[in-house]
Amino acid sequence: MVKRLLLIIAAFFSWLQTPVIEPGEHCDEDGCKLYDEEGEPVTGWVKTEDGLVYYDPETGLKCFGTAVIDGTSFDFSEDSGLLDLHAVWISADSFIHGHKEVQKYIMIHDTEGSGAPADVAEWMKVSRQGAVASHFIIGRDGSLVQCGHLDDILHHAGWGGPGNFDEIFGTGNNDGLGNGDDLVGTEPLYGYTSYGMNSYSIGIELVHIGGQDYPEAQLETLDRVIRYIDLYYGFEAQIIRHRDWRPSNSDTDINFEPYFENYTDHRRHN
Ligand SMILES: [Zn+2]
Repeated sequence: MVKRLLLIIAAFFSWLQTPVIEPGEHCDEDGCKLYDEEGEPVTGWVKTEDGLVYYDPETGLKCFGTAVIDGTSFDFSEDSGLLDLHAVWISADSFIHGHKEVQKYIMIHDTEGSGAPADVAEWMKVSRQGAVASHFIIGRDGSLVQCGHLDDILHHAGWGGPGNFDEIFGTGNNDGLGNGDDLVGTEPLYGYTSYGMNSYSIGIELVHIGGQDYPEAQLETLDRVIRYIDLYYGFEAQIIRHRDWRPSNSDTDINFEPYFENYTDHRRHN
């Protein structure tokens, strides 16, 4: 009896000493798996410093290349496994106005100008000393330019109102505490809401001039970008138009209304 008890105790201690797998990613010839502090595999979407990766819930293996997840096809980098938006990066130090602590809105804009998204990004660099930019610019052919990380504050919303639009939208003022866009030294117009919206939102510009249609390729890229933002934050931020924040603004165009209804309802243009 005592011997048996000793065996049980010995087994218990050997179990205690079983090395727990170090937390983090481990790769071998089968692929890469991620482990948490308890040595348990982590699966599903995982947000990293560089972007989003996905570990298959069945196998625990990280996805590389093209994979269909919940009926949607996604492209992952063959090297890093990062979800690939196929965006061309065109950024500038002047575009980045700080770290965004809160994500609440996805704001859709029209460029009110034509050209390739890369031209729009280059124009942003010279306009107002490069202080104005948006996270994404989508061309009429569906091509995509990214100007900042999702967690960066970019100045795309401008002032809101007139009226207390910070109260309406639950955004903060330029109070020097990280609430608001730090477009230092720039005063909003009297009676209008300041630049708080920028630190609560992602800005997406659609290359579009008033009266034009919104081509299918452009809307499909917008679908993809919104899906990416939803996955990145793990919730569905409210989609708004620039003119919801500043009613005197014309973007987006009336032709966008049916798509806006669909986006609001089910996150896709159709
Ligand atoms: Zn706008």
